Amino acid sequence: MTAPLTLEELTAAGAHRTGHFRLSSGLHSGDYLQCALYLADPRRAERAGRLVANGLERAGIHPDLIVSPALGGIIIGHETARATGVPFLFTERQEGRMTLRRGFAIRPGQMIVIVEDVVTTGKSTREVIAVLEEAGGSVIAMASIVNRSGLENPFDPIPYVPLLSVTFPAWPPEECPLCREGQPIEKPGSRPV
Ligand code: ZN
Repeated sequence: MTAPLTLEELTAAGAHRTGHFRLSSGLHSGDYLQCALYLADPRRAERAGRLVANGLERAGIHPDLIVSPALGGIIIGHETARATGVPFLFTERQEGRMTLRRGFAIRPGQMIVIVEDVVTTGKSTREVIAVLEEAGGSVIAMASIVNRSGLENPFDPIPYVPLLSVTFPAWPPEECPLCREGQPIEKPGSRPV
């Protein structure tokens, strides 16, 4: 059960597809990830959470709180918190603004790891960091199932522990080779989770 997560497993679960996709960022890509389909099996979700927890442990990162942004991060964040033995909270977008879920609070100085399903640009994660630090928390690391940012660590200097890093090309529509070939495009969900 300590074997690393592979792209083949995500593909077998239908969580990675190839074709021609319009991503939520507006970029086009031949690869699409929907980790929710992998996490739909609670045993797989539990294993992924344990792998994230092990990765944090190996990196010497010891959080006392795990936080994830809703909706995509909730399952993996919860399973990571279970495997780590610490509480779990989540943030959500309300009227376009990222905020802590109603009723949740951060204690000053709490050592937080943010856990996501997929990191694409890291932009929404940086909003979560800002919310938690404003609330007095200390974000000590980031983790995710998949890193598709194309960078080793888009959060540098905050440590980042992804289970799987992939390099999937993505292009602005006008530079998309799949458009040029006339391949029909798919717009999966409003926002990949
Ligand atoms: Zn295209």
